[in-house]
Amino acid sequence: MRGVDVAIIGAGAAGLSAARELSVAGVSVAVVEGRDRIGGRIFTRRDPRVPVPVELGAEFVHGAAPEVGRVARAAGLAVLDLCGGRFEPRGGRLAPLDGYLQRVDRVMRKLAAEFVQGFHAADLERISARSLAEGGSPGQDPTESLLGRVAGGYDRVPEWLARGIGPSIHLSTTVERVEWEPGGVALLVRSSVDGRASVVDARAAIVTVPIGVLNAAAGEPGAITFSPDVGPIHRASARLAMGAVARIAFWFTELPWDARGVELAAGETTASLAFLQTHAADFPVWWSAHPARVPFAVAWSGGPPAAALSGLPLDEARGRALRGLAGALGISPRTVERRVVDAWTHDWQADPFSRGAYSYARVGGSTAGRSLARPVARTLFFAGEATDTHGRTGTVDGAIASGRRAAGQVLRALRV
Ligand SMILES: Cc1cc2nc3c(=O)[nH]c(=O)nc-3n(C[C@H](O)[C@H](O)[C@H](O)COP(=O)(O)OP(=O)(O)OC[C@H]3O[C@@H](n4cnc5c(N)ncnc54)[C@H](O)[C@@H]3O)c2cc1C
Repeated sequence: MRGVDVAIIGAGAAGLSAARELSVAGVSVAVVEGRDRIGGRIFTRRDPRVPVPVELGAEFVHGAAPEVGRVARAAGLAVLDLCGGRFEPRGGRLAPLDGYLQRVDRVMRKLAAEFVQGFHAADLERISARSLAEGGSPGQDPTESLLGRVAGGYDRVPEWLARGIGPSIHLSTTVERVEWEPGGVALLVRSSVDGRASVVDARAAIVTVPIGVLNAAAGEPGAITFSPDVGPIHRASARLAMGAVARIAFWFTELPWDARGVELAAGETTASLAFLQTHAADFPVWWSAHPARVPFAVAWSGGPPAAALSGLPLDEARGRALRGLAGALGISPRTVERRVVDAWTHDWQADPFSRGAYSYARVGGSTAGRSLARPVARTLFFAGEATDTHGRTGTVDGAIASGRRAAGQVLRALRV
């Protein structure tokens, strides 16, 4: 690979938004991506039998999400806000869960386990209460309570960000080592196609790999060694951790909550069911594709229960999800199982390029994101959801914003 102005590690939302900003400003870039696809933790699959996108990573647009909104407008994408109801089993019947987000907010403030783990994917023993208080919950602002989806699939966002810079993106190329000095960087990379090593030379680098990768020990798959070591960055990243998420997407012949034998509270219908809080141990939350009327649903687990599911064969994990759902619906597991046509998942915890779902601040780590966002010798710049400083860590919106912030820092450093 030839030398460029700026080398960018990672073709997720952060890396692509940085690359786009720099290209528009006339700066040459090389984006080096370990996987054989762009998007990172945005991972959309499509199946000819299923009329909605199958999201295996990010699915929702949280709150106002100005960065996602900007991309959506420019790319001609619609964000559809969820309007359905939230239910839970109560007294043997499915009943509406009133004021769900307000309840999340209240419960989060008390750090009650189920909701906090579900929302932040965090381990309660380790999460920083300060970072939760500063940015973690939807609060009273109605805009912040909005929850939408990108119609057509979340991958349309990275696709648009990558438009026009395709030749600068090098897939299946893992960065193993970053050698740097003020004003110069050499990335030592290896192709996962033929195992060949090569070098990318640049004046500066933007590193957008997840915290799980930054914190991985040297020699682990995907881990990056910096030479010389970047002490402040590693001290900051060690104050953050990756939360675990397990999610399984199901295509059914009929939604299980529409099966005979499921009792509903008086006057209720499942036609508007968007979320179901089952309180099951492994997968306490399910959601439908509402407002799309299709028999598609997702089982969700966050925090230590999700970490415990990592490495399980899909059949075992899906069996647990379906048994938990059957228990909440008051019907037999066989009745639920019989309705399954197919299921999809991705093990983010075992994936060497993510090593978890998204970042959270450990106790004492509430300012670590800010430290990561500080340039190193005007040569190394760090971006990615974990470096967001506006309460949007763990989101696509925060990742895009961080990429744009890093691109601005680079432009100032290179005085372009
Ligand atoms: C299951 C799940 C559900 C989620 N749900 C939501 C949601 O509903 N809404 C929301 O807003 N957010 C959600 N998120 C979070 C969101 O996906 C992330 O915050 C965002 O996509 C992160 O973007 P990023 O660019 O910071 O990192 P990434 O997307 O992880 O990009 C980093 C890139 O670096 C690459 N990389 C890593 N190591 C190397 C290496 N050594 N060499 C080369 N390349 C490397 C990776 O392959 C990756 O492509 C979810 C995440 C998960 C996992």
